[in-house]
Amino acid sequence: MNRDINWPGFRADLGDIEIIDSPQTVRLKSRDYFWYSPILNQQLKKCWADLVVVPKSEAEVITIAAACAKWRVPLTIRGGGTGNYGQAVPLVGGIIVDMTRLTEVHEIGHGFVRVAAGALIEALDNEVHKTGQELLMWPSTRSQATIGGFISGGSGGIGSVRHGVLRDEGNVRALRIVTVEEAPRIITLKGADIQKAHHAYGTNGIITELELALRPSVDWQHAIVLFDEYADTIRFGQALCRDEFDIYLISTVDRRFSQFYRALADYFPPDKHAVFAMIGPKTIDAFKSLAPEFGGTLSLLMADAELQAANLPPSYECAWNHTTLQALKSDRSWTYLQVAYPQPYQPAIDRVIMEEFGDEVLLHHEFARERGDYQIFALPLVKFTTRDRLYEISARFEALGCGVFDAHVCTIAEGGMKVVDAVQVAFKAEADPHNLMNPGKTCQAEADAVLAGKEWVG
Ligand SMILES: Cc1cc2nc3c(=O)[nH]c(=O)nc-3n(C[C@H](O)[C@H](O)[C@H](O)COP(=O)(O)OP(=O)(O)OC[C@H]3O[C@@H](n4cnc5c(N)ncnc54)[C@H](O)[C@@H]3O)c2cc1C
Repeated sequence: MNRDINWPGFRADLGDIEIIDSPQTVRLKSRDYFWYSPILNQQLKKCWADLVVVPKSEAEVITIAAACAKWRVPLTIRGGGTGNYGQAVPLVGGIIVDMTRLTEVHEIGHGFVRVAAGALIEALDNEVHKTGQELLMWPSTRSQATIGGFISGGSGGIGSVRHGVLRDEGNVRALRIVTVEEAPRIITLKGADIQKAHHAYGTNGIITELELALRPSVDWQHAIVLFDEYADTIRFGQALCRDEFDIYLISTVDRRFSQFYRALADYFPPDKHAVFAMIGPKTIDAFKSLAPEFGGTLSLLMADAELQAANLPPSYECAWNHTTLQALKSDRSWTYLQVAYPQPYQPAIDRVIMEEFGDEVLLHHEFARERGDYQIFALPLVKFTTRDRLYEISARFEALGCGVFDAHVCTIAEGGMKVVDAVQVAFKAEADPHNLMNPGKTCQAEADAVLAGKEWVG
């Protein structure tokens, strides 16, 4: 327990807001999926909060924010705790603010929803479906992750091939934020200002409410198509990237992933490469006739209910970072890289990677749109041996023209998906003037300082 904090004074200010101090729960709530990275696992496995606080309303969030500012208590906001980079792991103790009781769907209108930040994505998507609409995108962790955590920690996912990534204009319409000050304020961010708090790892204000765009819902079907050549999975994926097609997911994995998908053994044999897709009814015929043109054979096409009845996983649990999870379930020595490919896609890059790294690297690609353009990303699996070797493989991707976002650091700046510029720094000063929010997550120099017990003045 951090002895510099006046805990009785802090607790008294919280009144009857729920506080959890059982060591077992506090430790559990101090975890996320940082163990995907053996490097982060080493760094973060002994980082715990002191207490967990569970607000049930925005008014309680404000009380917590005021008490944190008054007693200088560090706070780490937590949604579902499914982040991959230790984003929700407190580096210097303090409290975890568990947002999962703020679940109210405030308003569903034509083309938008206004919802509390702690709503589970799956429950929210189910709710908006009742109005004939759907969320534009969600992570493959939709059954565990909160909508606030997705906006604060995520980037895109299932639906991104159709609607782009979270930071694309219009996808997130507004964020309502509580500042961490003695007298907390409410700030509403709209338009380009949303970027100030998106992917900021809860370092610059507590999101209590969001307004998100919606589109008419589509009855998505799950498909698997098999190929002899890996390059053909990508060519097929590229052919599907057309505005007039209803496509919600295109994910490709090489044949060596088959060993991790035992439930799908009849549909994804070990001698074939696979495309996992979600397609709308209007595109099914085109999908079926395009596949053979690229050497593909359809092995599965099912609706949600049919998959459930057959006890098979949906396509999205075989995509994005669920792919990595499937491998980790059978062998904890796998880890992964996050790679952006140069445009246009050059198959030679993957040929070189396969030749040079053999069974040390397994290929997995994702299709998404960014600012309207189709892009190819990759989350290749890497057999972890040493830190140096992991970064050697990462450097090889970069030398071949790819961009690598570092999944083995817990800081925003070094992770590389967001630039911590003067606008970010100014908003941090406004929303968290005492530097209490998730200390150490902005950049590595800050992490080093707070872990060494020094004051961060950067
Ligand atoms: C198997 C697997 C698959 C994944 N697939 C994807 C994917 O497809 N796409 C993707 O983008 N990510 C993916 N992720 C990462 C992660 O699941 C998503 O980013 C997810 O949406 C995080 O939501 P969460 O509620 O679990 O957030 P948490 O992990 O609880 O929090 C994430 C970050 O947001 C902050 N935060 C949470 N709530 C708030 C709030 N209300 N206000 C301010 N800050 C807040 C936290 O402090 C933390 O820094 C995946 C992870 C796993 C383990």
